[in-house]
Amino acid sequence: MRPLHYLVGSRIGRRFAILLAFCCLVPLLLASLVAWRGAATESRQQAQEVRQTRAVALAESLATRIAAADSLAAVLLAGEREATVARLRAEAAQSGVFTRVLIDAEDLAAVPLTTIDAATGAVPIERSALTTLIAGAGVSSVYLVRSARFDGRVTTIYFEVSPRWLWPEIETLESGAVVVDAHGAVLRRSMASAEQSSHAVAAQVATRDWRSPGSKSLAWQANRSEWQAAAQSVRLPRGMRVDDPWIVAVFEPLPATWPASMALRNAAVLSALLALAMLLLAVTWAGNRYGPALHRFQLALGRLGRSEFAPLVRADVPDELAGAADAINDAAARLEDELRVIETFRDIDRLLLGATELEPVLDAILSRVNAVTRCESVGIALLDTDSPTHGRVYVSSRAPLDLPVTRVEFDPEMIASLVAAEEGITVARCEELRHSFLMPMRELGSEFFWVWPVVTAGRLAAVLAVGFREAPLADPRLARRGSDFAERLAIALSKTARDEHLYRQAHFDLLTALPNRLLFRDRLAQELASATEGRSRGALLYIDLDHFKRVNDSVGHAAGDQLLQIVAQRLRACVKEGDTVARLAGDEFTVILRNVSEPESASVVAERIIDSLKLPVNLGGRDHFVQASIGITLFPDDGNTIEELLRNADGAMYRAKDLGRSRAVFFDRKLMMSRFDTTHSGLYRALRRREFSLFYQPQFSLTDGRLVGLEALLRWQTPRDGTRQPKDFIPAAETSGLIVDIGGWVLEAACSQYAVWREQGIAPQRLSVNVSVQQLKHAEFPRTVRRVLEKYGIPPGVIEIELTESVFADEIAGAAMRQLSELGLRLALDDFGTGYSSLNYLRQYPIHVVKIDRSFLEDVPVNASSATLAATIITMAHALGKEVVAEGVENVEQLDFLRERGCDLAQGFYLARPLPVAQVNDLLQSRRLPDQSESLRQTG
Ligand code: C2E
Ligand code: CA
Ligand code: CA
Repeated sequence: MRPLHYLVGSRIGRRFAILLAFCCLVPLLLASLVAWRGAATESRQQAQEVRQTRAVALAESLATRIAAADSLAAVLLAGEREATVARLRAEAAQSGVFTRVLIDAEDLAAVPLTTIDAATGAVPIERSALTTLIAGAGVSSVYLVRSARFDGRVTTIYFEVSPRWLWPEIETLESGAVVVDAHGAVLRRSMASAEQSSHAVAAQVATRDWRSPGSKSLAWQANRSEWQAAAQSVRLPRGMRVDDPWIVAVFEPLPATWPASMALRNAAVLSALLALAMLLLAVTWAGNRYGPALHRFQLALGRLGRSEFAPLVRADVPDELAGAADAINDAAARLEDELRVIETFRDIDRLLLGATELEPVLDAILSRVNAVTRCESVGIALLDTDSPTHGRVYVSSRAPLDLPVTRVEFDPEMIASLVAAEEGITVARCEELRHSFLMPMRELGSEFFWVWPVVTAGRLAAVLAVGFREAPLADPRLARRGSDFAERLAIALSKTARDEHLYRQAHFDLLTALPNRLLFRDRLAQELASATEGRSRGALLYIDLDHFKRVNDSVGHAAGDQLLQIVAQRLRACVKEGDTVARLAGDEFTVILRNVSEPESASVVAERIIDSLKLPVNLGGRDHFVQASIGITLFPDDGNTIEELLRNADGAMYRAKDLGRSRAVFFDRKLMMSRFDTTHSGLYRALRRREFSLFYQPQFSLTDGRLVGLEALLRWQTPRDGTRQPKDFIPAAETSGLIVDIGGWVLEAACSQYAVWREQGIAPQRLSVNVSVQQLKHAEFPRTVRRVLEKYGIPPGVIEIELTESVFADEIAGAAMRQLSELGLRLALDDFGTGYSSLNYLRQYPIHVVKIDRSFLEDVPVNASSATLAATIITMAHALGKEVVAEGVENVEQLDFLRERGCDLAQGFYLARPLPVAQVNDLLQSRRLPDQSESLRQTG
């Protein structure tokens, strides 16, 4: 029953059964109906025929009786009147045919017979007529009228026909029957006829034309039932006249229901039952045959919906449905295929989104194209970015081989035709040169190929190829899928190209295309790691261009950039492949040398660099000379962190500068430990990061208390330790030589600030700037000073250069002092009295100001000898025509003492501490002296 259940239990099954039942039963019913109807009509006709015969029989018997009565009347009338009237009456009465005879006027007067006018002689002699006298419904008297000659006179005699003789057939008839005249008057009716129906029949008869005799069928409706009648006119004897023809009608109501044919009904019921039984059988059979299969289809389609693709087993399905099963299996296979393709593309897309490198995408595509296209081998040929006709081919095949990448040369014509073939092309015959990129796949046994171009930015970037052993079936899906893969490959390629571009932007210096600081650190970390593992030893070279700034300032930034590019090229040319040349900033370069077995090999490279940079650089038609100072540090020998190595190389580089530039110096730990403060590389960075600032300490006139000048004093705002004082870092800056650069910055910063004050109209008369002897030793210094003054439009007389006695020990410095003086600058001898220089120097050199060292004032006025010394210095300096400035004035006693001895200017905490620019601004603006200087003015 289970199979039947599949069918009947399902809507389809139920529909099917209902339809089948409908199809069986409707024709059956229709046939029964037609048969039934036929039978009914026939039985009606038969009944009508019966009525017809009856009506005919009745009409005939009536005619016979009338004829007989007529004959009898004729016989009775033969003879004389006198003799016969009495006899006539008697004989007529005796015959039983007539009830009476009306002859005389008085007879006739009693009977209202008007139909036949005897006087007119309408009934000729020897002829007869028939007339009726209607007494009531169905009751009538019938008279046979004849004319006879009595006594020479024509007399009309009326024979009243006996009803008992005339009507017996009618009266005794068991069905309805009437005799009516053509006007519808009922002459007689059978006993079985109701009065009402008799009138109805009579009315029907009256509607017809009876002038010619015959029989007629009548049908009408009355009392909600149908009636039928057979009517027959009565044929009267020849020559007999009648007012109206007589008609016999036999009638019956039709049965309310159709005549039930038992046989018919039985047959109908039987065939209906049979049909139902057959139906059940058919449904059962169909259920058995198709139910389970349909159920399986349903399940299979359900599984398809859940992406399960188990195929339908052909044996489970009847032959007729094999096509449907195949279609479902086919659809499932296609769907599974499509789904797998979608899945595959989704995997690749996910990979595309995340991947930063091309290789994983290539791997993914290579391994998946295989599965999706069911090919023998897959190949991706990547064209080199720098050469449009060379490339490398990656291949994967069904057999899990680890295949090498093959280099191939492309046929330019092939490239052109591939770029145009967006949908891909097929290659059936492989040609060695044209299809060079297919050769590696051919070696794996593939003979037929589908090939798709991978185009990025209008250029053929790669070729995707799938290979088959035999020509694959023409499948539009294959072409589409190949294009889809190619598209993804294009995305991957352009993405990696873009990533590479971004990477380059992030890791390479735009100007020189050298690795930038970031990549430099990466590479150094890498080298350091492999060096600390003991695998190799490397060297870090720190290269600083000497006087690059001058080039930049004199010929402009564009030329400076050009120079840096040339330097970068030269540097690169000096090192081996695998070594790294990087540009850290401005004119600073680094070189990482790998595999440095001997320190000498590092210095060889350094010398090569120095030599190659010594060559003139022609910019805008003028030769420029740059030199390089190089610091070299070895790793892991000198250090094993990037910071440490940078510091070492930086330190060594500054020593190189200190030693006279254009040379390479190895980092020397002992030297660094003893002579270098560990802060020096910090100083270098401080300069780069602009951590220096200037404070200004006012100098006051001792005669009128005016603020005459400001001394610029250096401060270092370290990000970690707060502000640091010069004594903590100037010595280190001097030994490392960094003081030259720092001093250069101080000069520029002080001048630019002075220019601002001048603009605001609050600039003091003088500005003192401390200059280290190292700065003076550079032949460039006076020129630099002049340039800066020009740049900020400052009159040279404003600037006072503070120097220490050590300048006298150096010839170049001495020359520089004269040049500065010639430029119009004032020179001050700082910390006077602490060195052992003779007063002679004051005479030999153009010194304008002497600054008495703080130590001479410390004990004033307590210690008489110090005071005497100080007073002597003032007197002597005045004698030599120098101005005297006292520094370190910490109390009013010292101030008073200085004024008494005629000192010109005073500077000290008592008067004003070194102040940041904002406070100096206030001071300059108010021109008001702080409290201490107030006292100075009062006393003055
Ligand atoms: P210096 O040139 O003799 O500068 C005067 C120093 O004495 C400053 O110390 C100043 O703050 C301090 N001073 C001023 N008045 C008093 C006072 O009443 N009592 C005491 N005890 N000290 C006072 P600072 O700023 O620490 O500078 C120290 C030294 O660093 C300077 O001595 C100078 O030799 C050097 N220096 C400062 N700035 C520069 C610079 O820009 N370039 C160079 N080459 N050296 C500089
Ligand atoms: Ca000073
Ligand atoms: Ca000083």
